[in-house]
Amino acid sequence: MGKVKNIILFFLRIIAFAEMSIFVNIYYNLQIYFMKLRAMAGFFIAASILVSCKNEIKDQTTTTIENSDFTTEAEQFADIKILRYQIPGFDKLTLKEKELVYYLTQASTAGRDIIWDQNYKHNLKIRAALENILQNYSGDKESKDYKEFIVYLKRVWFSNGIHHHYSNDKIKPGFDLAYFSQLLADTKTNLDSEVVNILFNDVDSKKVNLDEKKGLVEGSAVNFYGDGISAADVDAFYAAKKPIDIHRPVSYGLNSKLVRNAAGKLEEKVYKSGGMYGAAIDKMIFWLEKAQGVAENQKQGNAIELLIKYYKSGDLKTWDDYNIAWVAATDSNIDYNHGFIEVYNDPLGYRGSFEGVVQIKDFDMSAKMQKVSENAQWFEDNSPLMTEHKKKNVVGVTYNTVIVAGEAGDSSPSTPIGVNLPNADWIRAEHGSKSISLGNIIDAYNHVGGGDKLREFAHDQQEVDLQEKYGEQADKLHTTLHEVVGHASGQINKGIGTTKETLKSYASTLEEGRADLVGLYYLYNPKIQELGLVEDWKKTGMAAYDGYIRNGMMTQLVRLEKGANIEEAHMRNRQWVSAWVFEQGKKENVIEKIVRDGKTYFNITNYEKLHDLFGKLLRETQRIKSEGDYKAAQALVENYGVKVDQKLHAEVLDRNKKFNSAAYSGFINPLLVPEMDADGKIKDIKVTQPKSFTEQMLYYSKNFGFLPMDN
Ligand code: ZN
Repeated sequence: MGKVKNIILFFLRIIAFAEMSIFVNIYYNLQIYFMKLRAMAGFFIAASILVSCKNEIKDQTTTTIENSDFTTEAEQFADIKILRYQIPGFDKLTLKEKELVYYLTQASTAGRDIIWDQNYKHNLKIRAALENILQNYSGDKESKDYKEFIVYLKRVWFSNGIHHHYSNDKIKPGFDLAYFSQLLADTKTNLDSEVVNILFNDVDSKKVNLDEKKGLVEGSAVNFYGDGISAADVDAFYAAKKPIDIHRPVSYGLNSKLVRNAAGKLEEKVYKSGGMYGAAIDKMIFWLEKAQGVAENQKQGNAIELLIKYYKSGDLKTWDDYNIAWVAATDSNIDYNHGFIEVYNDPLGYRGSFEGVVQIKDFDMSAKMQKVSENAQWFEDNSPLMTEHKKKNVVGVTYNTVIVAGEAGDSSPSTPIGVNLPNADWIRAEHGSKSISLGNIIDAYNHVGGGDKLREFAHDQQEVDLQEKYGEQADKLHTTLHEVVGHASGQINKGIGTTKETLKSYASTLEEGRADLVGLYYLYNPKIQELGLVEDWKKTGMAAYDGYIRNGMMTQLVRLEKGANIEEAHMRNRQWVSAWVFEQGKKENVIEKIVRDGKTYFNITNYEKLHDLFGKLLRETQRIKSEGDYKAAQALVENYGVKVDQKLHAEVLDRNKKFNSAAYSGFINPLLVPEMDADGKIKDIKVTQPKSFTEQMLYYSKNFGFLPMDN
């Protein structure tokens, strides 16, 4: 089935929500695809989605089918698989559009060093030392120690620093201090001995610590706060800052490091031209100015202009102005996210990690999402929420599929599969937001894996059959419902603060679980068939429920190390949703736990009842959010979402061993190479694929290493 002209054959497997879905062949006629791409009207504004969501992909399984000479899988090491993605449609862009994509991509990559330094203050010097060893070591490269050194370096590259990108734990080298010291000496590499020791000792062992007992700030290695600053200090500092317009608060703390000055007073070191990270930010400005020069239209150009103004001044009011302009810039084929945006890496949720993503539109895949969006009010009106928590006007929420052309910062090499911005609630409420799914990234995941895992963890043949026939569709629709209706649904009671204030560290997982539950509630509903979204609502719903429970109760545990608690918000929510309905349905055996030949299975016996339980939990989750009920959020998450059944976890890890699939994936970015004419003007831009992950990482360090070692 290898080469078929003009047709990409893919075995689609969407991994966003339910694991181990199936493989449906979709034939894509490239010509039609491109025509649609060119005819695309514009981004739709998604109004009033409450919380930004960064979807993440779960571990992949499935079969690999590649077209022509492109291979998705590049390499695998430790718990990481490195993939590649293509940029379908790039060749059909005009030269001006290609230039825009190129300049925006350059502006993103220019900020690469920032995320390294934000993640940990010693990361840049450690990276420089490791790369120097790699490039200069002439000793035995076949030894076990050296191979472990290479794996360690790749893991550090992948995580943009020495802490695991997902677990936040400091990565343990597979070699010892003596060997490393020898490598340093042999290659004449300088690295402060205190920093060398940190690679091997227990200092700064957690990037983001959410355990309050250890101190949220003191226990976190992220470089957002100076020494001797506690969470209470930070809260007091920002509590004293009263917003000028209480209904339109600027995002205090988003673009700075908080430090104690010589006089012992707290002050912000602002990320801006001439400020912290100024050297990298000046390069961003350089490329953004070029991008502004080839903007597709006035609105897009205005937005880029404001972004430049913001990077020059560091003024957060300008950042808000920019976001408003960016949301309004909808009539373009090219779009991007650029800035200090997501606050997941700050245990206190103030400071934004740098990220850049550049996208080309893909209208074809967005059709279904638009259908859901058009019916958002119906979904709200028919939801199990208490009347007072329902929104009267859920407006035109649309979620678009785009084609990624380049990623950087916190979005690379590990990438989200969906983006929903801006984050400021009041901008979302007054001006709307953009919500997108990264189509070619998802497609790349679909090319990877092995299929037997489904048979290992599914309870019976019916479950396997349903999954194979409807699983992919179910997963995709769940993503859509989660994003388009889920995050948009419900309202907070008058006088109750934002969830960051009321639910604190439980806000993210509560919100993600709530959005999941909206999706689950409607996946088993005739309405989705009536809207033409699925062929058979019942079977799609059954496949969705099987997949969700299987993942939430068991298979997602392959991502955790033995003995660990669940920390990540989405993983937590998948478990508390699954474990709660399992327990609630126990009396009536809605989900039965079966042990057969020493293997555990979860079998749903009553889909109707499970549907009702999801509805009940959705109603309660919305109540918690609407009322800001911290105690209830804490009880739900701590009782069902954090602790892991150790025996089952061990069993799952054991059963998973034979599949040898890496738990996490990330990407090599295609490299955009401009071709110049005799006058030095760009005449075309070509998409090339770097030979390897190592080549790309060294290329970036060499060409985009703009920051000093200490910032
Ligand atoms: Zn979400």
